[in-house]
Amino acid sequence: MTDCIFCRIAQGEIPSDTVFEDDEVLAFRDLNPQAPVHILVIPKRHIATLNDLSAEDAGLVGRLHWVAAQLARQEGIAEDGYRTVINCNPAGGQSVYHLHLHLLGGRQMAWPAG
Ligand code: 5GP
Repeated sequence: MTDCIFCRIAQGEIPSDTVFEDDEVLAFRDLNPQAPVHILVIPKRHIATLNDLSAEDAGLVGRLHWVAAQLARQEGIAEDGYRTVINCNPAGGQSVYHLHLHLLGGRQMAWPAG
């Protein structure tokens, strides 16, 4: 989708601070970080929200989490701990409608999430 900012990042049309890339997945640092480590892990293919996943996409979502766990190790936050979040639709706090997994760490997280 040409009007999707994360599709444009995935296609290299908009620069990003990329920390991981393979055929299916891209990970880059959030423009407005909410923690010392704040990385977005996205499928390169456009999927708007978690609600739009098909059964065939289940492995892809597992892969987003696997990449996040590798990046947590790489960033040195795996042992202390970190949080992964997928926001869905307005009440879930989603602002960009291209599926993305937030990886947040480097500080103590609060619960319940706001
Ligand atoms: P959401 O609120 O949809 O769960 O998260 C969207 C995230 O994307 C936000 O944390 C926001 O800071 C980040 N974001 C929005 N536009 C850009 C951009 O152009 N580049 C990067 N790196 N992050 C972005």
